[in-house]
Amino acid sequence: MTLTTRFAPSPTGYLHVGGARTALYSWLYAKKNGGDFILRIEDTDLERSTQESVDAIMDGMNWLNLEWTHGPYYQTKRFDRYKEVIDQLLESGNAYRCYSTQEEVEAMREEAREKGEKERYNGLWRERTDHPEDKPFVIRFKNPLNGDVTIHDMVKGDIVISNNELDDLIIARSDGTPTYNLTVVVDDWDMKVTHVVRGDDHVNNTPRQINILNALGAPLPEYAHIPMILGDDGKRLSKRHGAVGVMQYRDDGFLPEALLNYLVRLGWSHGDQEIFSREEMINLFDLKDCNRAPSGFNTDKLIWVNQHYMKTMPPGDVAKYLEWHMADQGINTENGPSLEALVKIQADRVKTLKEMAEISRYFYEDFSELDAKAVKKHLRPVVKEPLILVKAKLAALTDWSPEPIHAAINDTAEELEVGMGKVGMPLRVAATGGGNSPSLDVTLALLDKEKVLARIDHALEVVEARIANS
Ligand code: GLU
Repeated sequence: MTLTTRFAPSPTGYLHVGGARTALYSWLYAKKNGGDFILRIEDTDLERSTQESVDAIMDGMNWLNLEWTHGPYYQTKRFDRYKEVIDQLLESGNAYRCYSTQEEVEAMREEAREKGEKERYNGLWRERTDHPEDKPFVIRFKNPLNGDVTIHDMVKGDIVISNNELDDLIIARSDGTPTYNLTVVVDDWDMKVTHVVRGDDHVNNTPRQINILNALGAPLPEYAHIPMILGDDGKRLSKRHGAVGVMQYRDDGFLPEALLNYLVRLGWSHGDQEIFSREEMINLFDLKDCNRAPSGFNTDKLIWVNQHYMKTMPPGDVAKYLEWHMADQGINTENGPSLEALVKIQADRVKTLKEMAEISRYFYEDFSELDAKAVKKHLRPVVKEPLILVKAKLAALTDWSPEPIHAAINDTAEELEVGMGKVGMPLRVAATGGGNSPSLDVTLALLDKEKVLARIDHALEVVEARIANS
């Protein structure tokens, strides 16, 4: 039998980091074992499910490159099958029609509350056969009355729940639509899911699902419930903590490789190793090595991982992602250095690709405004002579590459007997518009020669104006 895992999001929002981590663990476990990974859209809540959310989830999965082998399956397309199973449960005596109204059920709960017992439906219609005609009913599953259910959880170990803590769960609403626990059970069964990997917010559902599977004579999958992710305040990670949608991390300039690497470590470890290639993740990951305790989301660490990947991934691969940010910031990169060349010189200067795009505009666009602070500090009257001389030397170069450019700057400083800073800094401000750039020779080499010369002229005008005003 093929090992099969699934990711089963409800399309009621974007793919958040918690969901992405669950998907990743599920995907890794399937990959590691040469198994299948199913994407199933649990869209039975018609009011809250949207196509936008389905799209957002798939965008997130695609961006993270978590490809599924089967699906996407949609639960809304499987209502006939759910009905068939519900009928089967009715016929075998494992389910029954319950005519209690909501008020009556509320009263049962109230009664239990008063007695200090667990609030529950009391099983009133469990054995009754005097069914009223023309009255609405729900269908409830006949939960076993005695004994325990044991979840052999791959992460948490054995969890034992007594059946008398579970009441008879509604499996079909009065309009006939199936409920979550029923649809999940039918799908996991039909789709031959062997390992259910999901957030531990579902632990309470598992004994109910096991009981239904048993009643159907279906095989039980293995379960792995992954502890939740906490924000930096120790509370469950949510929108309050800022960017939790996966695509927001794309927008903020993170590489999918970095986010995946960060997420795999968030709840799982392999010694003290921090960096894992995709292949390493697949080879080393195991559900049984997942943490039992919740993990705290740490943005600084994510940034550190992102920097690592920007610096160590093949620059051409980073460039593909940078391209999106350049476009996002409206920078036309047709005329200028290749993005690959850009990544090589900017990768260790920034935290994110978004920043990389921000600080790289001058390679592609001319500017009329120079950074005011840099002008004040570096385009002073005394730099007129060095700028004129260095411009002449640069203009004379036939080989526009870092070494001769470096020599031209050096020679200028030597000839005028001034420090390198008196030449380099004004030249940097002239060429890039500000006081920050990678090493000047490399930066200039990536800029077109004529462009640099024109920008020096522009800076000289600024210096002239300053002289005139002094
Ligand atoms: N649809 C459920 C959710 O989004 C997941 C169900 C499951 O994994 O069993 O929380």
